[in-house]
Amino acid sequence: MSKKPVVLIKHDEITTAVDRIADEIRRDYRYKNPLLIGILKGSFIFMADLVRRIKMPLEVDFIRVSSYGSNTESSGKIKVVSRPSSRIKNRHVIIVEDIIDTGLTTKYVIDLLIEKHPASLKLCALTEKPARRKLDIHVDYLGFSVPDKFIVGYGIDWDEKYRYLPDICYIE
Ligand code: 5GP
Repeated sequence: MSKKPVVLIKHDEITTAVDRIADEIRRDYRYKNPLLIGILKGSFIFMADLVRRIKMPLEVDFIRVSSYGSNTESSGKIKVVSRPSSRIKNRHVIIVEDIIDTGLTTKYVIDLLIEKHPASLKLCALTEKPARRKLDIHVDYLGFSVPDKFIVGYGIDWDEKYRYLPDICYIE
C-alpha cells in the first residue's frame, strides 16, 4: 500500500532556490560553456528547471547509477548503468545531484569524472542530508539541507513512485 507523502519544501520555495543556483552558475561560468552532468534518474526535473533558468549556452549529459534498489537504505554498492557520452576532457563540468545522503554515490561519480581530466569539476545538489553524511564532500551549489527523512517528489522516487509530486515531501 502507498504511504501518504508529507510536504517538506513547497514548489514555490524550490523555484526560488533553483533561481538562486542558476544565478550563481551564470555568474561563475559565463563564456565557459559548462557541461552539466545530471545523475539519473532523480535529478531529471531539477536539471530541466535549472538549465532553463541559467539562460546561457551550456551542454547537458547524464550518468545513471544505481545504489538503492527498492529499499530505503543505501546498499553502499554503486553500479554505473549508463555513462555520459560527451567528451569530459578539458570541459568545465558541473555534477547535478538530486540528493546527497551518505555521499558514497557522489564520491563515486566524482572519482569517475576526475579520471577523464575535466578542466574543472563542481557539485550542485538539490538537497543534502548532513546527518547521514559518511564522506566529507563540498557542495558548491546547494538547494536545501534536509532532515534525516526519506525524501520523495520533484523527480525523486520511492520505488519509482512519487516522482510527479511538485513539492519535496517525505515518507514516514
Ligand atoms: P548516497 O550514496 O549519498 O548515500 O545516496 C545517494 C542516492 O541515494 C541519491 O542519489 C538517491 O538516489 C538515493 N537517496 C538517498 N537518500 C534518499 C531519500 O531520502 N529519498 C530517496 N528517494 N532517495 C534517496
